[in-house]
Amino acid sequence: MYVQDTIVAPATAAGRGAVAIVRLSGPRAIAILDAIWRPPGAALRPRELKLGDVIDSATGAQIDRAMATIMIAPKSLTGEDVAEIQCHGGAYIVRRIVALAIEHGARMAEPGEFSRRAFLNGRIDLAEAEAVADLVEARSETALAQALAQLSGALSERVGRLRNEVIAIRAHLEAEIDFADENIELPARDEIARAIERLGAEVATIGDTFARGRIVREGIRAAIVGKPNAGKSSLLNLMLGAERAIVTAVPGTTRDVIEDFIALGPYSITLADTAGMREAGDEVERLGIERTARAARDAELLIAAFDASRPFQDDDARVIEIARGRAGIALLNKRDLPPRLTAHELRERGLTIPILGVSALVLEDAAAIRAELERAASAITAAPASDEIAISRERHRVALEKAAAALAEACAGALKGVPPEMIAVDVMAAADALGQITGEVTSEDVLDAVFREFCIGK
Ligand code: GDP
Repeated sequence: MYVQDTIVAPATAAGRGAVAIVRLSGPRAIAILDAIWRPPGAALRPRELKLGDVIDSATGAQIDRAMATIMIAPKSLTGEDVAEIQCHGGAYIVRRIVALAIEHGARMAEPGEFSRRAFLNGRIDLAEAEAVADLVEARSETALAQALAQLSGALSERVGRLRNEVIAIRAHLEAEIDFADENIELPARDEIARAIERLGAEVATIGDTFARGRIVREGIRAAIVGKPNAGKSSLLNLMLGAERAIVTAVPGTTRDVIEDFIALGPYSITLADTAGMREAGDEVERLGIERTARAARDAELLIAAFDASRPFQDDDARVIEIARGRAGIALLNKRDLPPRLTAHELRERGLTIPILGVSALVLEDAAAIRAELERAASAITAAPASDEIAISRERHRVALEKAAAALAEACAGALKGVPPEMIAVDVMAAADALGQITGEVTSEDVLDAVFREFCIGK
């Protein structure tokens, strides 16, 4: 076991709640719990949950009445001794209990440190650790199913099996190297080449699931485009209206912006921040259009807004240009006003995506827009079969790509009849790349990158 110091952190989100959990892990976890929490009777047995008092032993003051439980290494979340206090969910109480644990020798955990220890102690592999993060972030049924499949080890198993087969090929090649001078029956070169080729194809097949897996995990990126005053903000509010209460707006990870999510059947749609387009003023509006064009390029789905109460303008032509060849829907807005622009005219001018006549002021139109959007979403991403393994992280995609390239190199070498030592180098590179997915082959840098995105207490 990987023995280190004892860490502490709240495992629950900051803020007020009925209950909060403070988690300790490490060799002194149980001793620290004993120092700050007292059960009424006999000491806690592992995995028992008891109500007791949290006490500041320096002053004897009671901090809270709280449940506690312990798990003994290696049968715990982290593979170390773990203690958890389920206290009342007040920010001050949680802070006091964490501070008490630190006074008694614990250290505040880094983000993802509990999971990192679970990985280092062999409780979970790297792909499974990432699945835990995905589970917490899941915003749709399919995202949840995908994370659960990965957590159950489906991806790790498939990649692990491929890696073993790659390693078996290396064993063949080594036999060839070792017994080169002896008259021993060895698999023919073209047989090895075929085996390598088959493995390469399987690796590539998993790699090809990335586009869909990523969309399932992160949601389909949608951008709303349209000339100023077409009603983009109003339509956005209409679409989000009913959702707002249950949808969480979280700061974007790469930019400091807020993104909105709509759950549409099995899909989650991420609406890129449109703050720029909500502001008024000629200059700002011009910039808004530019920003929109950029957002449109990054999006998988376009929502093109047109104003039905105004005649066709150059700005509309630009929107049609942006929508050319793209997936999405067009909303011909303001159908409550006398019509000056029709779906027919938009078609004639080259708009090819489905057009829906709507009004941002008519609440009932939200359902029609959502239905059309869901159709567009399903057209670009078939909902994955529940038993399908899909990768959803760039890290996995890159590793698979590396493995596939190394296998292609090895296959070409085997066919050309290069020395087995050289083929073995490529085969090993492929095995290493596959091992990076589960973390069998890893470096501190990779671990830092993976666990940095976890929150404190995870
Ligand atoms: P944006 O510049 O494209 O974001 O457009 P806004 O959503 O700010 O809307 C521009 C103006 O059009 C506002 O005054 C809205 O109230 C109005 N508007 C938006 N949609 C409709 C609609 O369906 N019918 C009517 N009558 N007015 C609308």
